[in-house]
Amino acid sequence: MEHFQTFQVLPNIPEPLCFLEELSRNYWWSWELDAKELFRRIDRELWENSGQNPVLLLANVPQKRLENLSTDPGFLDHQARVKALFDARIKAPFEGAYQETYDREGAIAYFSMEFGVHESLPIFAGGLGILAGDHLKAASTLGLPLVGVGLFYRQGYFHQRINKDGWQQEEYPETDLYHLPLEKVHDEQGHEIRITIPGPAEEIRAVVWKVLVGRVPLFLLDTNLRENPPHIREITARLYVSDPSIRLAQEILLGIGGVQALKAMGINPRVFHMNEGHPAFSCLERLAQTMEMHHVDLRSAREIIPRTTVFTTHTPVPAGHDEFAPDLVKPYLHPFESRLRVSADEILSWGQHAGAGENSDLSMFVLGLRMSQYLNGVSELHGQVARRMWRNVWPHRPEAEIPIGHVTNGIHIPSFVSRDNAMFFQNRLGINWHRNSWKRENLEEIDAINDMDLWEAHKRCRNRLIKNCRRLLKKQCERRNAPKSVVDAAESVLDEDVLTIAFARRFATYKRANLLLRDLDRLNDILGNTERPVQIIFAGKAHPTDEEGKGLIRHIFKHAADERLRHKMVLLEDYDIHMARLLVQGADVWLNTPRRPLEACGTSGMKAAVNGVLNVSILDGWWCEGYTEETGWAIGKGEDYDAHSDSDLVDSHALYNVLENEVIPCFYDREGGSAPLRW
Ligand SMILES: *Cc1c(COP(=O)(O)O)cnc(C)c1O
Repeated sequence: MEHFQTFQVLPNIPEPLCFLEELSRNYWWSWELDAKELFRRIDRELWENSGQNPVLLLANVPQKRLENLSTDPGFLDHQARVKALFDARIKAPFEGAYQETYDREGAIAYFSMEFGVHESLPIFAGGLGILAGDHLKAASTLGLPLVGVGLFYRQGYFHQRINKDGWQQEEYPETDLYHLPLEKVHDEQGHEIRITIPGPAEEIRAVVWKVLVGRVPLFLLDTNLRENPPHIREITARLYVSDPSIRLAQEILLGIGGVQALKAMGINPRVFHMNEGHPAFSCLERLAQTMEMHHVDLRSAREIIPRTTVFTTHTPVPAGHDEFAPDLVKPYLHPFESRLRVSADEILSWGQHAGAGENSDLSMFVLGLRMSQYLNGVSELHGQVARRMWRNVWPHRPEAEIPIGHVTNGIHIPSFVSRDNAMFFQNRLGINWHRNSWKRENLEEIDAINDMDLWEAHKRCRNRLIKNCRRLLKKQCERRNAPKSVVDAAESVLDEDVLTIAFARRFATYKRANLLLRDLDRLNDILGNTERPVQIIFAGKAHPTDEEGKGLIRHIFKHAADERLRHKMVLLEDYDIHMARLLVQGADVWLNTPRRPLEACGTSGMKAAVNGVLNVSILDGWWCEGYTEETGWAIGKGEDYDAHSDSDLVDSHALYNVLENEVIPCFYDREGGSAPLRW
């Protein structure tokens, strides 16, 4: 389809403010308190309406306002402060040991199907992507020479609407490329970097975009080019499509195209990190390049590549890994027959399960495992689960010697901590507070923050959350053409001083969003208690093909619409990183009820924890390591069950018990003043 070109008259940025333009084109602003404030103060309303996107903000702010700011001493001072920090953080050379590593050994390439950097760049679906985004940000702060490689999805992941019957609907609005801080990468002659991959019928051509995440570049491949036929342009339209041929083409593009793009840009990484199995085809291109550049045979290349490859697995369910039929894959493998001097069947076998036969599917996971020497799960428990799950790949080794370790995920704290808490940390620990969160002496400093100050700050976050819930819920009701009484009621849902539980995550069945709804009488008693009331906010998307997950959403929707619960139980549409931030900062309790051991890590609980929000969770994923009696509550004792229905029943009782006997009394214990000091 031909698009009409639209032209927009952009305001002229006055000379004294030209730094704003540069700042808006580096996502560093998104985690630097002072930088974010600088954009916000230009025009608060426009800032919120632009989805906190400074490129869009600057395109729409009235010229008059900019002229005024260009002579406003307060604003110019603020800008100078941010610029000094920006220059020190972004333009400084890589520090210390990392600088040497970079000079000597080159970059680390981080391949991922999704990257969650900021809500204005919608190329992520959930935890895997947010983790990837957090890694880029942390690498920037540390001065690690990382480069990210991914795909630019023009429609991203879907936006969720819930219709009046409670069914999830998916919408795919086109991302407005011109209001994103993306730029095309050019070579030294000024030509666009282009890569071409032989496809089954025709070539797949792609360009490379660059996004700056602090000091770290993120490169995104895009097939939406005029010279590509429509079905090739569609390859990078959406994230996590179900059509296996598109999915395969995406993973070919990410893996093979990603490695080619790095080479075309003159980047020669010494370490490749694969975030889950999707980029595993990168190894084929690297084998071929190694043989071509260093004139070695396949055997030597197959010894070299794994030594420089790190593979992180995130999914403890076999069905969560992509597998492709040989007929689909082979056309992409034929070009490698001559480059690797081996048959397509042989290449295919590298990704087939041991003993599965020559016509079995290619598993991206198995291919990734066999091509990497450094393998890890994302929590201690998940490491164990992964060793058991994949022992058939190493049929001759005992389980304890399966070479999969673990590196427990982390979060990029400045991206998720509330403004209020960040101010405390900054006052106590200085401007570099987030670089030193691991230091023990800093914990003492944080401990010394005044209890009342902390509680007041938390109350501001809860109020902000509730205000936003009301606003969003009202919009949802209006869109569904709900009766006026329902719309009006939405404007005053929830209460400011009530214990607020949040459950926000993907609606995958193993996460059991409805565990709290198993015994409705008991739930009604808990929520309806007039002395010690409780309220709960749900949010999350189900994958478009996950009918069971959609059923869970509908189940919760129905109860949240019930007259008796409507005021205390809210279901928000379209969970994303922005909503996640509001929730992990403003809730009192962060609830997680996975069917153990299926939650590989569950990083949202960490985001809650750094905000002083207490976790109530099954002992699964990171919580096995994070839980102590002082940091929150465990549901159950870490039991594993064989039958689902047993564990659901037992776990739901344990959940009600811990709420009734421990969480609620602790929250409402106000001895010695208005703040719950024990809490
Ligand atoms: C952090 C985050 C996740 C991942 O956390 P889980 O605990 O695995 O759900 C998912 N989605 C969003 C929007 C997040 O911010």
